[in-house]
Amino acid sequence: MALLINSLCINCDVCEPACPNQAITQGEEIYIIHPERCTECVGHFDEPQCVVVCPVECIDKDPAHAETEQQLLLKLLRLQEESA
Ligand code: SF4
Ligand code: SF4
Repeated sequence: MALLINSLCINCDVCEPACPNQAITQGEEIYIIHPERCTECVGHFDEPQCVVVCPVECIDKDPAHAETEQQLLLKLLRLQEESA
């Protein structure tokens, strides 16, 4: 399941460099997680790094993008193939 940044985001920019998949960018009003690149950090870390570093706890699971761990790993493999 990809994660989703909610409207409490204070645009602090801490999460963007912490993401191993370059899944976070600055949006028009708040930061955005791109679901096609977010693997919940599966394959990289035990915990979602954006959630770990966010000072205001404004990152939730995105119910619109439910995925199993296997699907997340497949997404990671696809991302790695794209960047190879
Ligand atoms: Fe990036 Fe991990 Fe956060 Fe997804 S959970 S946006 S992969 S840091
Ligand atoms: Fe927004 Fe949290 Fe990312 Fe800071 S770390 S930009 S508050 S989502």
